[in-house]
Amino acid sequence: MADRTASADTETPCGCKIGRVTEGYGLVDLDDDLVAYWTGDGDEQRSTRELATYVNQRILEEALTNADIPPKEGEIENTYRLLTDDDVSSGTRVQTRNELQRDGVPVEQVESDFVSHQTVYNHLTGCLEASVETPSDEERLERSEEKLGALQNRTAAVTTDTVDRLERKDILDIGEFTVNVSVTVTCEDCFREYTVRDLLENRSCDCQKENVGGE
Ligand SMILES: [Zn+2]
Ligand SMILES: [Zn+2]
Repeated sequence: MADRTASADTETPCGCKIGRVTEGYGLVDLDDDLVAYWTGDGDEQRSTRELATYVNQRILEEALTNADIPPKEGEIENTYRLLTDDDVSSGTRVQTRNELQRDGVPVEQVESDFVSHQTVYNHLTGCLEASVETPSDEERLERSEEKLGALQNRTAAVTTDTVDRLERKDILDIGEFTVNVSVTVTCEDCFREYTVRDLLENRSCDCQKENVGGE
């Protein structure tokens, strides 16, 4: 695991701190990940604060791996929390540092390599020239509709599967069947009920329209 072949990276790293740690720790794909997470490409968008944590945890992971401590599940997150979280007592923090030091992790170096969210932001906008495109309301609605549609399809598939399986075991008796999934949203102000599709289409409960202009 510690065996790491030098990557034939043709791109010159930028001169900022992130460029330096990317090179120093051999964090391949870091830039791609940062841009994808930041712009929300295919995933939920993440804040620069969350991304700083992501970078720092990758640094920590690399440092542990380099010290021949293959990190166990959840260990990186936990160790990072112990080193940085305000809620952790100074005693616990000192103990964590000492343990890492004893295991051959250059804690001080690692901590000074940690980056701030501001650094992440500057790297993304300056070095990588990435920009977050704010989706329009229509795009947001469209994406939401797709997401909910996929969820409903999945629910229908799992339901069909479950009924099928129970029927095959003779636990359940039914003829040919179809499964319909419909999610409804009820306005607690007026108790009108909408399918989620209609609600996204109308973009407002009828009572909210009535309210415009007062009584
Ligand atoms: Zn940079
Ligand atoms: Zn209503």
